[in-house]
Amino acid sequence: MKITNVSTAVIEGNFPWVLVRIETDSGVSGLGEAYWGAGVAELVHKARPLLLGEDPVNISKITEVMIRCLSGEGSQGGATVTAISGIEIALWDLLGRALKTPISTFFGGRFREKIRIYADCHAGATPDPADYGRRAREVVEDGFSAIKFDLDTSNPFTLDISDDPHLRRQWFEPFNRTIGSQELRWMVDVVRAVREAVGPEIMVAMDAHWKFSVNDAIRLAQALEPYDLLWLEDPVPPENIEAQRHVTHSTRTPICTGENLYRKHGYRDLIEKQAARIIAPDIPKMGGLAEAKKVADHADLYYTPIAPHNVASPVGTVAGAHVCAAMNNFLVMEYHAHDVPWWGDLVVGEPTITGGFIHLNNRPGHGLTLDEDVARAHLKPGSSFFGDQPYA
Ligand SMILES: [Mg+2]
Repeated sequence: MKITNVSTAVIEGNFPWVLVRIETDSGVSGLGEAYWGAGVAELVHKARPLLLGEDPVNISKITEVMIRCLSGEGSQGGATVTAISGIEIALWDLLGRALKTPISTFFGGRFREKIRIYADCHAGATPDPADYGRRAREVVEDGFSAIKFDLDTSNPFTLDISDDPHLRRQWFEPFNRTIGSQELRWMVDVVRAVREAVGPEIMVAMDAHWKFSVNDAIRLAQALEPYDLLWLEDPVPPENIEAQRHVTHSTRTPICTGENLYRKHGYRDLIEKQAARIIAPDIPKMGGLAEAKKVADHADLYYTPIAPHNVASPVGTVAGAHVCAAMNNFLVMEYHAHDVPWWGDLVVGEPTITGGFIHLNNRPGHGLTLDEDVARAHLKPGSSFFGDQPYA
């Protein structure tokens, strides 16, 4: 079997989903997905000559060749690794179809047949904590047992010191990462409202998007301890592992991070220094299925759970769910499409999501086939539809 074509189509979902198709001379093809980002589709096409003529069975070698040959494009991290992730996922799907085997089998089989997902809820309709509680209750009534809100959204106590809404979240000035006492009280009120709305059994996570200083992150995390969060995500900026570790070891609230790290090397210090209680790799971004499994196995040396960040279409989500099934330390996976009604329509063999779980089946590969009519209807303007170039 030889690879004969590698191509992309970018679908305009709530994020631009970069779909990757790999075709072979045997007629078997694979469908993958890379996380969104400028240049990702171009980088898939840049990698194409490295794949043509290769036996698609040799996934590890092909991935290593791409990492080495695209070093000039920056294959230690960023968009190049994201592009490689989409190709890698397509190769696993292709292999599964060729061998009539579900992807999870290639990673050691399943610890579980259904993958718990959490709904990203973003915020309440207004900054009133009661509205966060209402939103939480609605999503739980839709069947989710795990939810997440953003805690760094605009609140009534934000000083209006900038016209840029992204810079209006800090108390004293935009860049010093501090939390004012009223802001802190508001955040605690929001978490309390959500917890009281959903009761003690629902998993509740909060995301802070790298906003706060070490001291204020600890103040916040400690203030949230009575509400038994699943985690507090990214309370401090991501670059300094020691600072991250200090926050993690200063609170009973579990600290989660990792959505912007790449390859197993990117997670090494975080895991080995035990700087987070929960690790959140984005599988179609950080290197793909095998790389995510390596990170999970490494984290398991320290008994650290994995909770993948995920904003993918059904393709990247279900492919990721297959490798999550094979991780003993899998905790929960993000589902970011609660407000995209056609999310599941993008594929034939729509993933079965009930009760806040993705139920895996035993179809070959990830088991999904693109619905080309739906894909074309949502094609990003200017994107090619699996053509010779990334652009139409
Ligand atoms: Mg996040």
